[in-house]
Amino acid sequence: MAYQDITQYNAACFTQGRPYGVSSITIHWWGDPGTHPTFEGVVDTFVTGARRTSAHYVAEAGRVACLVDPDDRAWACGDGIGCRSGGNDKSISIECNPRQNDGDYQTVAELVSNLRAVYGDLPLYPHKHWFNTACPGTYDLGRIDRIAKGLPAGKPAHDAKPAVPQITVDGSCGPATVRRWQQVMGTPVDGVVSGQVMPDGKSYARPALKSCSYGKGGSLLIKAVQARLGLARDGLLGPATIRAIQAHLGVAQDGSFGPATVRALQARLNQGTF
Ligand SMILES: [Zn+2]
Repeated sequence: MAYQDITQYNAACFTQGRPYGVSSITIHWWGDPGTHPTFEGVVDTFVTGARRTSAHYVAEAGRVACLVDPDDRAWACGDGIGCRSGGNDKSISIECNPRQNDGDYQTVAELVSNLRAVYGDLPLYPHKHWFNTACPGTYDLGRIDRIAKGLPAGKPAHDAKPAVPQITVDGSCGPATVRRWQQVMGTPVDGVVSGQVMPDGKSYARPALKSCSYGKGGSLLIKAVQARLGLARDGLLGPATIRAIQAHLGVAQDGSFGPATVRALQARLNQGTF
């Protein structure tokens, strides 16, 4: 079953080119299903650029509008252009009808399958992977993935649990937590915060960081965290970065990367986001 391919509309807001390549697909929903947003309304918002946002595709059962060429960058993920961990830079964004009926899943999955035929086996991320947002609500990315791969579609979204790998919330930032943090931030996954300097124990401390190595250059993970939090990117888990992480996680900003901070971090990672 093929969908109608709508190409006559163009988004007002996007950035040309893909200097960082394409390495994922990001799933969005149009908004709260209770507000009954429409396909035409969402397309119109991107065409006029009314909200200074865009997406590559708007999709619902049986039809897909392409608003931004997937070889250009849409303004979809809220994390800016040229940001190292950026969803806008590296991802193709699909806005999906929040009613989530069987036809919506079928069409989105067909679009995903068509994109993978061109760009390779791109993983699916929820918008909240890149940015602190509720989007895409209860959308079941595992179900989209299974249909796109020709596997049994499984249970409807409202019966399914989100397939986020869980780590133990124990307040200790060991290899498993670092690995998960690296996965969520999209940096190389080795389970170690590398390139660090010794804390002075006065302005800051890291008693709960159990997997780290010392040396030059800092950590790519910490650089990605710093980019996300708008800090200078030196890759060091130092006093300003620890305090910014604590503010981001809503815990006391005491400059100590200790058990309370790590428990909040682990809980956040268990939601598939930072
Ligand atoms: Zn979104």
